[in-house]
Formats: sequence, structure tokens, C-alpha cells
Amino acid sequence: MTGMDADEIRRIYLQFMVERGHVVIPRAPLIPHNDPTTLFTGSGMQPLLPFLLGQDHAQGRRLTDSQTCLRVQDIDEVGDNRHTTFFEMLGNWSLGDYFKRDQLAQFWEFLTERVGLDPNRIYVSCFSGDPANGIPKDTESAGIWTELFSAAGISADQVDLGTEEHGGAVGAQGARIAFYGKKNWWCRGGNAENMPVGEPGGPDSEVFYLYPEIDHDPAYGRYCHQNCDCGRFIELGNSVFMEYKKTETGFEPLPRRNVDYGGGLARIAAAAIDSPDVYRINLLWPIIDRLQELSGKSYETDTEAMRVISDHLRGATFLAVDGVKPSNKEQGYVMRRLVRRAVRYAFDLGLEQNFFPQIIPTVAQMYAADYPEVVERGDQVIAVLVKEEQSFRRTLRKGIKQLKTYSESGVSGIELFTLYDTYGFPVELSTEEARKSRIPVSDNWRAEFDAKMAEQRARSQGASKMHIQPLAEAAQGGPRG
Ligand SMILES: [Zn+2]
Repeated sequence: MTGMDADEIRRIYLQFMVERGHVVIPRAPLIPHNDPTTLFTGSGMQPLLPFLLGQDHAQGRRLTDSQTCLRVQDIDEVGDNRHTTFFEMLGNWSLGDYFKRDQLAQFWEFLTERVGLDPNRIYVSCFSGDPANGIPKDTESAGIWTELFSAAGISADQVDLGTEEHGGAVGAQGARIAFYGKKNWWCRGGNAENMPVGEPGGPDSEVFYLYPEIDHDPAYGRYCHQNCDCGRFIELGNSVFMEYKKTETGFEPLPRRNVDYGGGLARIAAAAIDSPDVYRINLLWPIIDRLQELSGKSYETDTEAMRVISDHLRGATFLAVDGVKPSNKEQGYVMRRLVRRAVRYAFDLGLEQNFFPQIIPTVAQMYAADYPEVVERGDQVIAVLVKEEQSFRRTLRKGIKQLKTYSESGVSGIELFTLYDTYGFPVELSTEEARKSRIPVSDNWRAEFDAKMAEQRARSQGASKMHIQPLAEAAQGGPRG
């Protein structure tokens, strides 16, 4: 355990990359410019996609940054020890410059020598190949990993797991290097078959940190392996090697090969303090500490509520910093959802008064040195969020009261719609609330709710819509399992 905190890790990472000829580029806002396919910046590579696809970047061929990201498809997983909606992704890119050897060696050096992680706890994955599409196994990356482990006195056995299911059935059997198929193939379309002709793709190689004190959970398969979701192995980062182009007849090597590396700052920082719980790092813990003070409750007993509130308020703060306001559509709706979930969970802690003004300055303080805009726009952020907090508290009291009246008979999609329509009670919150209070929800509530929603939309033509586009999973390039 090195004890290095997240700010230090962010700084030394960027410095380390500068020493290797990279230019530091500023974070892109959470709201992507000119990209209608996605609501939020969800990875470090997303803003750089045009350059990975061949456009020249004004800052050259070696770039690095720490990108603030938001992914709301994980919102229901927030509450466990490692999923957050808002996170920072450390990134470095080679646009037709260095390739596998330099990338894997520098990531290894950064983790083991700069951050000081224990090399004995590092495990990796590589691409097992795709014979049907004529794409070979990535033995080159595996060979480089073998040398790196060997130089640290660690023998690195290999195991071919193919799929995560098979991995769960047979386990990693102690192998340092596990090969997977689709899991270690990167392209924008998800898999090789669906890629359009001309599209680039390539193998990737993930790095995991082992927390040996965590027991494997058989709910995820009989045995544990690198990509097991039980929390014993935590992914720290992923190096994508864009080296192939799809053709009419298969795949051919790209003339200009790229590296796209993305790593989770929080997860690396958690590893540095030897904590499988990312909420213990210094970019989340001060919020939890403040929640403990304000509520008089402890993180140990109210873990889930404190995790949800701290994650959601941090995300909502950055959304406000980047100019989003709560509303009933698109980004504004997601922001509203974050704020409302935070308020809801605050009720569980007994925080029934407006508490955002006591939390947001803590968030601003954590980022003051590296993202000064969070402090500069602090007053505006507090004003936006407090207004939403206040109006939702009124709604919530009425909505919860109404929901409890359904307890015997259960609740249908039509009633959920009434709660939404009359009280402004978001459907995700009311279903969550019903589950918590053991109120049965009808099986086809979603269809019933959507039908009422469509009716209302037809009635109020031109009114704001609640349509949320799915986030571009395509930009997957980082440690999100
Ligand atoms: Zn496991």
C-alpha cells in the first residue's frame, strides 16, 4: 500500500506521460459537442474518436489527459463498492506512433513503480482471436506481459477462457494472462460481424488488481477469473490496439495503428490505498465524511445511501459546472434524476432539510486545484441544485404518501403514471420505492406506463419530451467491466 491519493496519481500520471513525449489536453465537457448519438462524454476516447479514425490532431501524435465522464447506464449499480456514474478516466493515445510494447511497458511501470502497486497482485487479459473472421490471437501482447512479469520475478501462466461464462466454469487456475474473445475485441459496433466495411478495430488488453481478502462469489460462476464480477479482481485500465480494418473479405492491417488507453483514476487510487471500496479515496470520502457529520450516522451502517448520495451529487455538480440545468429532457432529465435520487436517499439518513449547500462546497474543494472551474462556478452550481432540491422535497413527501396507499393491491403502470404526472415522482424512483416498501409492481407496468405517456405526449404536442437515448457503448474503452 502506497497511500498515494487520487490527486497525486492524476498529476504523476500526466507528468509521466509528458516525460514520454505526450501533450496534455484539457478535459472535454460532460456534454459532447456536435455529437447527436450520445448524451454524455462516457470515456476518454470519445472526444478523440475523429483522430483515432485518421484526422490529424493539432497537438501531435502523443496525447494524454484525465477526462471527466458520466455513464448513467450503471446508475442502478451505484451502491456497490466500485460503480459510480461520474468518474475520471486517465488516458493516453498514440496516433500512428508507438504500439503494444511501449504501451504495456509504460502502463506496467506507472502502476508498479510510480504508484507503487504490488506486481504480485496484477493480472491481465488478452484477445484469444476470432478464427471465423480470420483475426489471430494476440500472442504479441501476451509475450510482452510475460517479459514484464518475468523481470519482476513472476512467472506468468496463460489460460484460454474464451467467454466469461467459460471463465466462470473453469476459473483462471492461477494464470496471470487470461485470453478472452469478444470481451477483448474493440470496435465501435460491438463485435467483428456487425462492423461495416472500412471500420477499424483491434484487440485490447486489460489490467486487473487482485484483492485476495475478497472471497469469490459463486453467484458469478463456479470459479473466479480476471473478468469475474464478484469484486475480487478489479479492472484498473484497458489498452486498445487499433490495428485492423474490416474489408469485403475479412480484415487487413491498418496502415496507421493507434493505441487508446483508458484507466479509472478512482480504481487506481483505491488500489494505492489497498481498498476495494472506491468511496474511500480522497475524491469521494470527504463527501461521505460530511454526510456522517450532518446525519450523525455512520458509513458502516448506511453504506448504500452514502455511496449513492456522494456519487450523484458529485456528478450533478459537474453537470451544473458544464452548464446543464435540471429539466424533463435529455441531459437535464438525467441531472434531475441524480438530484432526486440523492434527495431520496438523504431521507433514509434522516436528512430532511435542504443539505446540498453543505455538500457542494466540499465537492468544489476536492477539485479546486485541478479543475478550478468547479470553484469559479460554485455559486451558480449551488443555486441550480438547491432550487431542484427544494422543489423535489415537496414532491417527494406527497408522492411517498400516495404510494403507500397502494400497498395492499400493488401498483400498476397507470398508477405509476399518475404519480409521475400529478406529483412529478419519477418512475424509476417510484418503482425503487415500491421495491423498498415491498409493494408489488405489476409485471407489465412499463408497457402501461409508456402507453399513458404516449397518450399524454399526443395531447401536449410540442411539450418537452422525456426521450433518453441510449449512451454510446461504442466508446467503451475503459474499466467499466
Ligand atoms: Zn470471482
